Parts: sequence; C-alpha cells; structure tokens
Amino acid sequence: MMDPYRLAAAAIKSAASAVAVTGAGISAESGIPTFRGHGGIWEKYPPDEYATIDAYNANPDKVWKFWCDLATTLAGCKPNPAHYALAELERMGRLTAVVTQNVDNLHQDAGSRNVIEYHGNARWLVCPRCRHRDPLDLSQHGGTPPYCFCGTLMKPDVIMFGEVIPSEAIVQSALLVEKCNALIVVGTSAQVYPAARLPILAHQNGAFIIEANIVETDFTQTVTNAFLEGPAGETLPRLLRYVEQT
Ligand code: NAD
Ligand code: ZN
Repeated sequence: MMDPYRLAAAAIKSAASAVAVTGAGISAESGIPTFRGHGGIWEKYPPDEYATIDAYNANPDKVWKFWCDLATTLAGCKPNPAHYALAELERMGRLTAVVTQNVDNLHQDAGSRNVIEYHGNARWLVCPRCRHRDPLDLSQHGGTPPYCFCGTLMKPDVIMFGEVIPSEAIVQSALLVEKCNALIVVGTSAQVYPAARLPILAHQNGAFIIEANIVETDFTQTVTNAFLEGPAGETLPRLLRYVEQT
C-alpha cells in the first residue's frame, strides 16, 4: 500500500478546500481526558447525572461542581503539536476551517482562526434567557452557580445532553464539508451525532478522507482513504512536513 502520508499530503495540496473535523482525541495529549472509555470523565461523572440540561436545572449546586472541575482541568492545558499543525496548515492557505466537537478553546489558542464549535466553549458562561455571555472565572464563580443580572441561572456555554446544537454551527459546517475536497478527521470516535455524520457527508460528496486516530473507528473501513495511525501530536506534524516538503 502507498504511504498514507504521501497520499494525504497530495490530497490536501490538490484540494481547493480542505477542512478538519476534530474530537476529544486531539486534546488528549494536552492532558484533557477523552470522555468515553477507561479513565474518561464519564467514569467519575455519569452523564445523565451531570451533563444534561435537566440535571443542571434540577440540581445546579451539585452539577456546577462538575463544570468547575472540568474548567479547572481545561484552565491548565495548552495546545499540543496537533493543534499547532492545523493552525499552520490554515496559515499556509491549505486548510479552510476546523470544525470541532471540543469545548477547550485549544484550536484558537494554537492560532486557528476559522473554528466552528459544535458543542460550545467551556471558557464562557451564557444566560439561557437573554443570551448574555461572561467569561467563566473560577476565582469568582468557583463556589456556587452564577446568576445573570437578569436573574436567570447561567450555564456554561456548552451544549449539554438534551440541548440542541446551534443551527448556525450545523449549517456552516455542512456547507464547508459538502464543498471540501479533503477532510481531515482527528481523534473522534464516530459515535456522537450529528458530528459523526460529517465525514460520511464529505465522502458522499467525493472528498478524500484522512483519518488520524490511535485506533481504527467505524470510519476507517468505510470512508477513510488514508489512515494516520498514532497520537495526533505526532501524526499531524508529520502530515504537515509532508505537505511542506513533497
Ligand atoms: P470520544 O471521547 O468519543 O473519542 C475520542 C477519540 O479520540 C477516540 O476515537 C480515541 O481513539 C481517539 N484518541 C484518543 N487519544 C488520541 C490521540 N492522542 N491522538 C489521536 N486520537 C486519539 O470523543 P468525541 O468523539 O470527540 O466525543 C466526545 C464528546 O465529548 C465530544 O463531542 C466533545 O464535545 C466532548 N469532549 C470534549 C473535550 C474537549 O473539549 N477537549 C474532551 C472530551 C470530550
Ligand atoms: Zn440574562
């Protein structure tokens, strides 16, 4: 079989538009655990108890502690070479956008400019009633759940289970993915819909699918054209070198 890096780099270089779709795996090497599986966040905090909008509204004090725990983890994390590689591809004019399921802001921290967030951003709070947003400040909001000046319980600006993905993110990402000629899928388990649909949509529209993961997923044998096996912090910088040098 041909070198998947060579194939992937050629696809990116000949693409009028290339797009990346990223999941929790791209941030694993930044020290943020993935949610599913061993050592994942859901082992400690069962999602039906902590990550649904109903649980938050029913029991804000309890659920707020989970969000503070998550925000504390995120606050100490920095982008890793995988985030920087995608930012560099965008800077070079080789990547149109990053569509991410992550809420950690690490793509923006690495310098990516066109980032579409499917599940919101955990660095912010939002008021469900008037949509006012405030940065989440652990020193100020650490103890008890915050209230908006309009009197409403604020929530992290993250899509919880039971909430809908903002239609703007859905429409924008579908347009980008339908139009792209190459799609780079990084560290996502293909299990969370609707984001799991994007690689299939791209494939159906004829895009070349590059997948970077430490293990095969449901995409690998169905839509993936070049599988880059290994930690994204190693595979994406290598892909970047191929794009630069071949
Ligand atoms: P997931 O946890 O379901 O899957 C993670 C995937 O990453 C797996 O396929 C795994 O094999 C792969 N992976 C793990 N380490 C990797 C590495 N070093 N390099 C490459 N791949 C690696 O994640 P998901 O599919 O993104 O879905 C979980 C949901 O939870 C997401 O929608 C997201 O909103 C949320 N989440 C966000 C963060 C974050 O913001 N950093 C972290 C965890 C979960
Ligand atoms: Zn308000």
